[in-house]
Amino acid sequence: RGRAAAVQVRSSAMAAATPILDDLRLRCATPLPLLRHVADAMAADMRAGLAVDGAGELKMIPSYVYSLPTGDETGLFYALDLGGTNFRVLRVQLGGKDRRVIDSESEQVSIPKEIMHGTTEELFNFIAARLSNFVAKEGGNFRLQKGRKREIGFTFSFPVKQTSIDSGILIKWTKGFAVSGTAGRDVVACLNAAMERQGLDMLVSALVNDTVGTLAGAHYWDEDVMVAVILGTGTNACYIEKNDFIPKLLHLGPVTGNTIINTEWGAFSDGLPLTEFDRDMDAESINPGEQIFEKTISGMYLGEIVRRVLAKMAQEHDLFGHSFADKLAQPFVLRTPHLCAMQQDRSNDLGEVELILRDVIGVKESSLAERRAIVDVSDCIVKRGGRLAGAGIAGILQKMESDSNGQVLGRRTAVAMDGGLYENYPQYRSYMTEAMVELFGPQDSEHVVVEHTKDGSGIGAALLAAANSKYAAQSST
Ligand code: BGC
Ligand code: MG
Repeated sequence: RGRAAAVQVRSSAMAAATPILDDLRLRCATPLPLLRHVADAMAADMRAGLAVDGAGELKMIPSYVYSLPTGDETGLFYALDLGGTNFRVLRVQLGGKDRRVIDSESEQVSIPKEIMHGTTEELFNFIAARLSNFVAKEGGNFRLQKGRKREIGFTFSFPVKQTSIDSGILIKWTKGFAVSGTAGRDVVACLNAAMERQGLDMLVSALVNDTVGTLAGAHYWDEDVMVAVILGTGTNACYIEKNDFIPKLLHLGPVTGNTIINTEWGAFSDGLPLTEFDRDMDAESINPGEQIFEKTISGMYLGEIVRRVLAKMAQEHDLFGHSFADKLAQPFVLRTPHLCAMQQDRSNDLGEVELILRDVIGVKESSLAERRAIVDVSDCIVKRGGRLAGAGIAGILQKMESDSNGQVLGRRTAVAMDGGLYENYPQYRSYMTEAMVELFGPQDSEHVVVEHTKDGSGIGAALLAAANSKYAAQSST
């Protein structure tokens, strides 16, 4: 009897919680006119940022990549990839036109929390030590040309003001990194100093954002790749721009050719449908007021937004009765992969959802209606994220299209895509694609191909190191 009564009370609690869900759906809605506004605003902000530094929300950072790898590159190159959650080292032996990538090897470690919250020296010592370890195991198909030092392409996935192809200043950390003393410093100089402490004699030939590495890596195999997007822990996009469309570079004299522009679109915020949950999360984040687009659409944050909605439902409407531990109050316990796993549960009783609720937020007992509601909350937040990501991509393509008299959507154009969110979350992926189809119409969207290029940023950085090799002049035949 007690149990039946408890279930009854809870189902009325569920009914009381429903208005929160309805309200959430309303506030997170992304109808076509809103997507259009976001795409247009993204395109307009890109133009502002290309004209004058700081004029828009997007930084529109020139990458100093003036030539993409052609396929002719040869020799041994290394890459370092410092991202949101992992650190990767990689080596590749390039064989030129016909042989391309002869062999490649990589190692990956997740970045310890202490390192993310430590000092600059600790972070770069960690990187240099891992690199040194990896270099020591070189053998097999890998061979350094005589008289050369090993060259590195350094993928550094944070907003960096490039000062040349092989130097750049960290503007600020994102994605939960809070390493002290790095902002305002040249990260290549930091790496060089750590390599010296480590006794490692290598040369950094290219410093690139992960989007830029991804674009270069994908373009190596498919010349229609014009844009690269990361949808992972964080988010960003870059694209190939004509130099004469970059007014802020005109002072360098006459400019021809193309450059990759790192948009840093994570900073965008114009017209986004935000809720109290987003605002509270932002206010309590380590970078309040910053990276609002990133906080709305990327993997680091989707789970946390859902957690905040559930916490309110539990607190104010007795969702889960009182059968949950304080775990639900713990920021970032519920992670995006959990949402994803819950959304893949097709069983009648939502058994997988029940397990996750129990193991992750300590809910001892949940009703089917409650489990359904949680899936609905997740879907609502993920749908908003995916559709806004689609609108962002559309905004970039739209800008390129109008500056090229229809040369972008009128033909095959490829968007290289990387990041766990895109790779692992089918619903997110289809929401993103749906939004692009809604915005472009079925015909134009046929021409836009999204290519998943897993871990392309590492190889891409190595290729850019090769294309910008310090030995290039003397080795060209
Ligand atoms: C950073 C970008 C990076 C993106 C994806 C963002 O937080 O600001 O530089 O490209 O994450 O890794
Ligand atoms: Mg990455």
